[in-house]
Amino acid sequence: MSDRLRVLICGAGIGGLTAALAFVRGGAQVTVLEKAREISDVGAGIQQSPNAMAVHTALGTADDIIAAGVMPGVGIIRDFKRGRVKLRTQMKGAYEGRYGHPYVHIHRADLIDILRKHAVNAGADIRLSRTVTAYENRSDKVFVKTDHGNFTADILVGADGINSAIAAQMQGQGSARFTGQMAWRGLVDASDVSPGLIPKDASVWAGPGTHFVSYYVRGANLINFVAIKEKADWTEESWSKPGDVSQLRQAFKGWDKPVTELLNACGACFEWGLFDRPALPTWRDGRAVLLGDAAHPMLPFMAQGAAMAIEDSWALSQAVFQNSDIETALRRYERLRKPRATKLQNISKSNAGLFHAAGPAALARDAKLAAARALPFAQKMRFDPIYGYDITTVI
Ligand SMILES: Cc1cc2nc3c(=O)[nH]c(=O)nc-3n(C[C@H](O)[C@H](O)[C@H](O)COP(=O)(O)OP(=O)(O)OC[C@H]3O[C@@H](n4cnc5c(N)ncnc54)[C@H](O)[C@@H]3O)c2cc1C
Repeated sequence: MSDRLRVLICGAGIGGLTAALAFVRGGAQVTVLEKAREISDVGAGIQQSPNAMAVHTALGTADDIIAAGVMPGVGIIRDFKRGRVKLRTQMKGAYEGRYGHPYVHIHRADLIDILRKHAVNAGADIRLSRTVTAYENRSDKVFVKTDHGNFTADILVGADGINSAIAAQMQGQGSARFTGQMAWRGLVDASDVSPGLIPKDASVWAGPGTHFVSYYVRGANLINFVAIKEKADWTEESWSKPGDVSQLRQAFKGWDKPVTELLNACGACFEWGLFDRPALPTWRDGRAVLLGDAAHPMLPFMAQGAAMAIEDSWALSQAVFQNSDIETALRRYERLRKPRATKLQNISKSNAGLFHAAGPAALARDAKLAAARALPFAQKMRFDPIYGYDITTVI
């Protein structure tokens, strides 16, 4: 029998595939168990910030991601009605210089495909239609049950998302709770809107209880949008469902022209309830360990959920390669990652207040943003700890 480290990964999302690549590159024998019949993602974009790109660079996927993606010129926060600029941050060129890596917008399916291809080419074995149902720690192995047979390994990585079966068994976690926010997501063909209507930037329009994000993906041929609205409840059983475009247009009626024109050109969208979970006391149990949304789901208002899963994947693989004892390795991983993920969860939550402020709170927010405009240093202080963090130099 091979004496290579055997790693089982539950879930082939962005976290699971990045972990597969990181482990296989370090010489481990990796099997990924994914419950879906095929590996794919929703038709929507995703932002890959410089801290995520640092890991992609170390794993050899950055060039493909940059080639398939679009780099936004600037990040802009605008007023929802007239589009007046509240804050403008140079991204393209500036981020590469400051953080060593670019900020990239990419179609989720393209990112997943790049990660999958690299992981498989490097030797990872991905098994589809395998739902992990339980695990059992044995003296020197972990035994994993699925609906199609059982597996043993040295380590089980639970990268199975916010509704993680591994986390549920580990700590009998409470179920995910609705955060009072919902999102519509969609893609519009760039040729279906007036040329120049949507700038090639990362744009946010901020309104009371609502905000709208747009950016380009796929060679700037598609415009991605995420429209967030506070909502008292989410009554659907499913977390995502086809959305009603007329309801979406109604929610943004009277907004700045680029928003309304983009929505008029939109033929279809999806609706998502945004959920979170109470913080877990620990991310590990014997030889089982969690990463990504399974460990620390977060609101998407800092665009860092997948970035944290990607940083986790690097940190976990390196902690395991650097420590012969599994328990020491997993403890080191958790100690390194929990404070950072918790910090990003809190920043993401507080951004709801920044984007959704109304009345006097909106005036206070605008004053803060005006100060940030006048003091670019303040913006750098805010973004440097997030985007300038390079996990590959930490471990
Ligand atoms: C509207 C919105 C916008 C966002 N935008 C951004 C952004 O711009 N940038 C960013 O960094 N993040 C963003 N995020 C967050 C990001 O999408 C998530 O944090 C990220 O996808 C989590 O990846 P994951 O691999 O941990 O989990 P998931 O993507 O949930 O993957 C889990 C995988 O596990 C599989 N699985 C589940 N249970 C089992 C089981 N029992 N057995 C086998 N397989 C199983 C699932 O089928 C799935 O493939 C956004 C989120 C939302 C909702």
